[in-house]
Amino acid sequence: MVTSSELACISTNTKPIGTRKATANGHCGVCGGAIRAGDLVDDMVFGASFSNHNELADEMADDKCGYCAAILSNTKFILNFSTCVYTKKEAFPFGKKINRAWFLINPPTPPFAITVQATKSQHVVWRAPVSLSKEVFYVQLGDNTLKIRHKFLMNAINTTTLLRDAYEKQLEDIAFKTKKKAKKTDRNKLRPLNYGEMKGQMLKLGQLQYWVKKLIKEGYVTEKDIASLKALNWGEAWALDTASTEGNAAPEKPDTLK
Ligand SMILES: [Zn+2]
Repeated sequence: MVTSSELACISTNTKPIGTRKATANGHCGVCGGAIRAGDLVDDMVFGASFSNHNELADEMADDKCGYCAAILSNTKFILNFSTCVYTKKEAFPFGKKINRAWFLINPPTPPFAITVQATKSQHVVWRAPVSLSKEVFYVQLGDNTLKIRHKFLMNAINTTTLLRDAYEKQLEDIAFKTKKKAKKTDRNKLRPLNYGEMKGQMLKLGQLQYWVKKLIKEGYVTEKDIASLKALNWGEAWALDTASTEGNAAPEKPDTLK
């Protein structure tokens, strides 16, 4: 089975490296991927700054595979090639919100891996689970693995549009009553749930924001209308905040990473 290290190497034209050839079939101690006799491999030795020992597939293994060796030794995978979508053909940047939104709504053809570096110099690539379907996929957000059920996310995006419409209606009603002009709204600032930023703060992530509670209280929407928001796991709540942008921040497919 393909690993995220392999996908990252294939999609960025990075050759596997090693100091010797494996003498027998086995597995990679870092990503857990298969190693065949004759494959390029390297010793399971890590730099002093390496701090992810607990996440290694098998610290007692003899070898790391050529893909993991390439990823761990090449700084591009902790710099500009760390927040990415890796597929079997190409890699795409995943850093800009409009690009993240695009791939959350339009996941690529599986298998693929999505990684977000949350702190500087963080290894995320080899730790990312490989997604095998567009219906349920994963985002490695720093140390956290988010599980995204695509249908749940899309339902919540539709609900967000509905809530923004309802909020604008509420403002129009207020304007009509007070005989003043309705306030202009930045719809992208109307975020239905508490949100986490890139750095991965998860405090109260996914809780309903006050403006939504007010819409329910005043009868603009019902509790049933927001059921899709309540159904989200916290990873999907993070994804919703990214993927529900519109107008001048509408989702946009980025160019291939070269
Ligand atoms: Zn490996």
